[in-house]
Amino acid sequence: MKVQELNVVVIGAGVGGLAAGALLAHKGAQVTVLEAEEYAGGCAATFSRGGYRFDAGATMGCGFHPGGPMASLGEELGIGWPVTPEAVAWHYRHKNLQLDLSRQRSEIIHHFPRSAPFWDEQARLAKLLWHLSKNGLAWPIQSVGDARHLVLSALSQLPGTARLLQFATTTTLQWLKRHALDTDLEFVRFIDSQLLVSVQTTSPYANALNAAIALDLPAAGAYRVKGGMGSIAERLAAFIEAHGGAVLYRKEVNRIDSVRRQVIGVETSDGSALAADMVLANLTPESLVRLTGEECVAAAPRALSPYWSAFTLYLGMEAALFTDLRAHHLQLVGQSGELGEGNSIFVSFSPTDEPGRAPEGLCAVTISTHARPEAWFEARERGEAAYMELKNRYTERTLDLFSEHFPLARQAIRSITAATPVSWERYTGRFHGHVGGYPQCSLFGVRSPVTRFENLFLVGDSIFPGQSLPGVVTGARRVVELVRRKAAKIKL
Ligand SMILES: Cc1cc2nc3c(=O)[nH]c(=O)nc-3n(C[C@H](O)[C@H](O)[C@H](O)COP(=O)(O)OP(=O)(O)OC[C@H]3O[C@@H](n4cnc5c(N)ncnc54)[C@H](O)[C@@H]3O)c2cc1C
Repeated sequence: MKVQELNVVVIGAGVGGLAAGALLAHKGAQVTVLEAEEYAGGCAATFSRGGYRFDAGATMGCGFHPGGPMASLGEELGIGWPVTPEAVAWHYRHKNLQLDLSRQRSEIIHHFPRSAPFWDEQARLAKLLWHLSKNGLAWPIQSVGDARHLVLSALSQLPGTARLLQFATTTTLQWLKRHALDTDLEFVRFIDSQLLVSVQTTSPYANALNAAIALDLPAAGAYRVKGGMGSIAERLAAFIEAHGGAVLYRKEVNRIDSVRRQVIGVETSDGSALAADMVLANLTPESLVRLTGEECVAAAPRALSPYWSAFTLYLGMEAALFTDLRAHHLQLVGQSGELGEGNSIFVSFSPTDEPGRAPEGLCAVTISTHARPEAWFEARERGEAAYMELKNRYTERTLDLFSEHFPLARQAIRSITAATPVSWERYTGRFHGHVGGYPQCSLFGVRSPVTRFENLFLVGDSIFPGQSLPGVVTGARRVVELVRRKAAKIKL
């Protein structure tokens, strides 16, 4: 069977599902995307409230640099992304340390002079990794074809690949130790802050290669997405529709029908049923089980570091608070130096020259902090009062930290909405609101898109290489390749 003859159903219009759907539509497949919400984008959506357009989760465009996964996807599909490079990726603050993270490492090296050789090594590794991921990564290996693809990519980059091997089982802290940086606690905290928002864990656990590419973000360049992050998902959805497919909203899939090891279609909560040759599930494995009624992906990778959810605030604010800054994103760490749970926050505010994002003189602000979900679900079990108490406590802690660095922050707030791990579960359908992808501790034991059903694949940030727009797009390419191979084996 050719890809052009395939009838593909994608469950979920997150960037991972939409990217896979768009690539398949481009190859001529008949693609239908079913999305539970009213709009596309999931964790990378932009939603309207009270005259503002807020980014729900993701706020910073990355992977749009020449040769990056988003740039390559745009070129292949002929989509012009509405992005412009940011002069400064983000602004970092802890106590008196203030750093603008930009393409040049000079400011960082000025503050941490001994780190220069570390950054040289990081840049060399990242260059190699960006190259290897350009056309999708055949990892984890599922077939002889994958092994051949990996070996050929690796050989094209010798001797660099040999260098990568040294880092494959190294943690970031061990890597820092090689540069005698592990005892510089301020530097380790600075690295950990970056790792937590990108690879979902910190230097004692984060694999060095995952870290090398994550730490490259400011150097590769952060991009501002016009209209908010959701514009990316909207363009992908429009592409699918323009190529004969459909993206249907308020269509929650509640069952995947199968016969032995073949999926035959899906059912939605409004009673519709759709037949499918291939189904791509833009879900976490826990959410997928609810639809198939049985475990159908390999056991979760060994969790050295547990999964996170998020606590987020959406604030309408006076734009004047941010006028002195060169960045649209701030990473603020509190006095204690601890990370997550409101002790460190990532603040993004909409640019004032985008009138559609907020009323005149105001801006749409998204603040997020990593949160363990368990306490939130326990509080919900205890009742409304316990849940609201926790929500208020997190709101206050987050605003206290914001005010520690911006004393006028509270006075500048015009409106406020909070989203907890419970909200994230309800919104994304992810068990316990596990957003942000898996902690990237090891290159081995990562999840592949393959399920025990021959024509059902996972897509999105639960599969290798994990979270972020470039991450899920790289994963989507891998899924598309597997779909193509599987289709070739189907005899009509
Ligand atoms: C707070 C936060 C900040 C982040 N910041 C950044 C950033 O700055 N830059 C960056 O690149 N990345 C960032 N990320 C990560 C990035 O947003 C995600 O990795 C990525 O968007 C995940 O995409 P996905 O396709 O895997 O899934 P999702 O975005 O979760 O999309 C899945 C979709 O499936 C739908 N769905 C679920 N169940 C069903 C069902 N049964 N039927 C129909 N539809 C269903 C959901 O409604 C959702 O729309 C951030 C994430 C968070 C949470």
